[in-house]
Amino acid sequence: MKVAVFGLGYVGSVTAACLAANGHDVWGVDVDTAKVGPITEGHSPVVEPGLDELVADGVAAGRLHATTDPRLALERADVSLICVGTPSTAAGSTDLTYIRRAVRDIAEAAHVAEPPESGFHSIVVRSTVPPGTVDEVVARVLAEVPAAEGFTFGTAMCPEFLREGSGLADFYDPPFVVVGTRNAKVGTALTDLFAFIFERRGLGVDVQVVDIRTAEALKYACNAFHATKVSFANEMGRIFRYYGVDSREVMRIFVQDTSLNISPYYLRPGFAFGGSCLPKDLRSVLHLARVNDTDLPLLAGTLATNELTVRDVVDRVVAGPGREIALLGLSFKHATDDLRESPSVELAERLIGKGYNLRIYDAIVNPSRLVGANLRHVTSKLPHLQRVLTDDPIAALAGADLAIVSATDTAAIDALLTTPPSRTIDLSGRLGNAVEALPGYEGVGW
Ligand code: NAD
Repeated sequence: MKVAVFGLGYVGSVTAACLAANGHDVWGVDVDTAKVGPITEGHSPVVEPGLDELVADGVAAGRLHATTDPRLALERADVSLICVGTPSTAAGSTDLTYIRRAVRDIAEAAHVAEPPESGFHSIVVRSTVPPGTVDEVVARVLAEVPAAEGFTFGTAMCPEFLREGSGLADFYDPPFVVVGTRNAKVGTALTDLFAFIFERRGLGVDVQVVDIRTAEALKYACNAFHATKVSFANEMGRIFRYYGVDSREVMRIFVQDTSLNISPYYLRPGFAFGGSCLPKDLRSVLHLARVNDTDLPLLAGTLATNELTVRDVVDRVVAGPGREIALLGLSFKHATDDLRESPSVELAERLIGKGYNLRIYDAIVNPSRLVGANLRHVTSKLPHLQRVLTDDPIAALAGADLAIVSATDTAAIDALLTTPPSRTIDLSGRLGNAVEALPGYEGVGW
């Protein structure tokens, strides 16, 4: 199929490359040349394990293209997948500006592009959007643009469940493929588009076609639950630490309770959740509660606990001696360069605000590796952190009184073992026995 992918960030670039790798003719569109440029040159515009190779292969095979021109992407295309950002507004609601713009771009491009042979084009939202968006916002924009000859549009919501750092594996093995639509042709198009996912698993095609609002709400339910699991595990860690309990061990056994049938993911006591999805999607649900004049105390508490988790670490640092800190890990988790709402960024800013001297090392957010949009993000939004970023973990640790370790890699662990400071605070829970045996080692949450 010919597929247009609008938005080439973490979701769009993985989607575009995986579809191209499975035989589809894919045209990615982005308004940002820092996303389009790398792809046209055969590179990934974001850091995601395996993506650089997949983009290179797709471009070399002539099946993956990137452009800022929606018309080129829409030319004879069967499907548009909308993967643009849906950030929080200042009030916590979901900013749908980019969704509106992308839909308008598609509707306007249809006036200058050749329609597909069938005359039918599916517009599918993969971004996370509140219930009602497809029916109200997408439909309204389509109604505002005069119909283009030869193109009939059908709409759907098909939420994406990949996680940064394991984006490719997640794309090929989603927990489910859910399509919210009232249009049977869109359901068929998406079943064809994603057939390779099920073929790889050796299963029959199992696309679940549901009501549009169900598909929109599903993603919020998933993210609210993941966030709740993190806050739950962190609360267990926070209280049982006073009794000398290793709550990682408690959680390891806890998940064996078959009556819970619960996966161990998101249940490791440690640091706060962050990134571009869980905090914003929780805020979005809480905003929906406010506009409907209802309370969601569990989810409000989940956010409050997360905030306390960062504050706890600041309090621990302040309670100890020394002003020189090595922060190992800056992104919100392992194997990604995404700094949006990273709790480590928040922690660094608070400590700098309290007068501590920080040196920061991150295996990926590394001065010599930062490129494109992420380099722009660091230079424009985090210049105070850019000044203390180093690409050498030994340099970060030199003269440090304290190491705080969140997301990290073997180079950082080796450096820690070679030149350990007198105190190490482990936020990751996965540094291994050698580091845990260092004098002055403290785990957060156990
Ligand atoms: P991102 O910010 O990394 O990328 C969004 C891209 O959309 C940007 O490159 C931006 O320039 C582009 N864009 C904006 N307007 C455009 C337009 N009119 N035409 C073309 N491109 C346009 O965002 P992301 O992390 O990939 O997330 C995208 C959506 O998917 C969000 O709704 C998010 O909640 C959801 N989601 C994200 C993840 C994740 O792990 N990042 C996982 C599942 C779902």
